[in-house]
Amino acid sequence: MFNKISLSTLFILCFFTVFGQETFKKPQIHSHNDYLKYVPFYEAYINGASSIEIDVFIHKDELYVAHDFDKIKKVNTFEELYVKPLVSLLGRGELSNENPLQYLFDIKSDDSIGCLKKLEEVCAKYPQIFGGVIKPSLVNFIITGNRPEPKAYKNYSKFILFDGRPYEVYTEKELEKIGLISDNFRKYSRWNGKGRLIDKDMDTLIHVISKVHTLKKPIRFWATPDSKSSWEVFHQLGVDFVNTDNTKAVSAYFENAQTSRYFSPNGHTVDFSENATFGKVKNVILMIGDGMGLAQLSAGLLANKGELYMSKFSNYGFSMTQAADDFTTDSAAGGTAMATGSITKNRYIGLDASGNPLKSLVDLSSEKGMKAGIVTTDNLVGATPSAFYGHQADRDMSEGIVNDFIHSNVDLFIGNGKEKLEALFDNGIQAIRKNGYSPVIDSFENLRPQEGVKPVVLVSNTDANGEGGNPLMMKKMATTAIKYLNQNNDNGFFLMVESAKIDSGGHNNSTEQVIEELLAFDKAVGEVIKFAEKEGHTLVIVTADHETGGMSLPQGNKINGMVQGMFHSHDHTGIAVPVMAYGAGANEFSGIYQNIEIFNKILSLLNSKIEKE
Ligand SMILES: [Zn+2]
Repeated sequence: MFNKISLSTLFILCFFTVFGQETFKKPQIHSHNDYLKYVPFYEAYINGASSIEIDVFIHKDELYVAHDFDKIKKVNTFEELYVKPLVSLLGRGELSNENPLQYLFDIKSDDSIGCLKKLEEVCAKYPQIFGGVIKPSLVNFIITGNRPEPKAYKNYSKFILFDGRPYEVYTEKELEKIGLISDNFRKYSRWNGKGRLIDKDMDTLIHVISKVHTLKKPIRFWATPDSKSSWEVFHQLGVDFVNTDNTKAVSAYFENAQTSRYFSPNGHTVDFSENATFGKVKNVILMIGDGMGLAQLSAGLLANKGELYMSKFSNYGFSMTQAADDFTTDSAAGGTAMATGSITKNRYIGLDASGNPLKSLVDLSSEKGMKAGIVTTDNLVGATPSAFYGHQADRDMSEGIVNDFIHSNVDLFIGNGKEKLEALFDNGIQAIRKNGYSPVIDSFENLRPQEGVKPVVLVSNTDANGEGGNPLMMKKMATTAIKYLNQNNDNGFFLMVESAKIDSGGHNNSTEQVIEELLAFDKAVGEVIKFAEKEGHTLVIVTADHETGGMSLPQGNKINGMVQGMFHSHDHTGIAVPVMAYGAGANEFSGIYQNIEIFNKILSLLNSKIEKE
């Protein structure tokens, strides 16, 4: 008993440790009942199947491909369906004997000897494909179904090998002619391909696979479930050929199998527990993880071994993100909803759905004598930050957005945008030197409030993807902004902090980018809530404008933090996003509500602060 359980447990541990590192090797694909496909042979071939199953009958001295004798069609000869395509591919220089194809030649007729005699005859007509005395064949046949007696195997051509069974006994000579060992999966398990194999079945399979591998033969099962979970498990178990009716899907699955899995080297310790009590709201810090849905949050949480600063909050809600003119929002309408409390059209920045300019939380807090700041890993003119100070009918009206900015109430900006300003204006960053705004390049260590000066810190684009916005700077940008806005300030501040590139991870279908951006964002969240805890009158909201990529997490490993992310699309989706609240007034944020309620709740907390003081 101990041995049996430890075998499968050990296997799972080993597999997940190895996976994600460089040892990943795609499995070979076996096209089950290939002749039943809409386009036999070619469909399997273009999807990289190296083994093709062909059921064969001999009838009137001709080899026919069919599942049943009464389904034989005159046109479906073996030669027509499975030899002529090879001739055509060879003519185009496509076939080579580096990776010979395998035909699993399943003899359905009782006359296996006649069938094989005819096969040798057909192959002899195509020496360019099936070789000769010196030249190796580009195709190896594995004869299955009605096979001759093992002792007769030696009588057949070099390229004709046979399908063995794991529990049949062969002499050494017979074994030389066995090219594959197959068995009925149903002898080992009733598994339907969903969830997991039970330990007992797993152990039996591990046993038979290792027995076959000891003979140095590849193994295949028939009658297998045909699902992502089953392909994954067969591959993990070391089954050499993944048996499928859908070669395209299997190929696509394993194409992404490695890049979809990610272990983060940038995990962090979460040294925080919520225990402070809070007074009335004085400061509000709204943190937006662009594109951060529940799957993205879970990916970060699992990659960081089950802990995030974002998982230490006690108030959670969900925000519905639908735009005025579209089920699925973009960052312009999503940002505008949270900044102004108006459901608006996609691409609109700071305008209501009829195109009228709106006051944002930046303007409203400024009216209350508070300071206002923006931090982003995006550009100055990015959709999310500009929703807090701009008024434009298209998020791409960058000149207009810059003009809105220099007439805005933002007291401090830290983000990217140097290159963007240089591309937009002849005088580059000097274009924003107006109304007290003062561009600062890169250095934001020692910002000190100065009468009449509003710093615009433009950090150079230095991230690994060349997209701008180094996620590792997120934490420093946020803490610098808080320190700056909090200095000599009795009236409080409103700060929006955006992690812009979780969204890019979704658009790029990159599990790695999602996780790395999210973990960097979480480190910034950690600093922000530590400030809030000490300060006692700060509200912190962490949320998203929308989900990106339709991400799901089919697999992973809780122990070592490996996460497999799969994506449904390259665009945003309409699924609700989490709202996490900490500090003063945080309990207002539980429940499920439209994104504009984030604005309404913040504003009502700020209003009550004024009224009560
Ligand atoms: Zn996006």
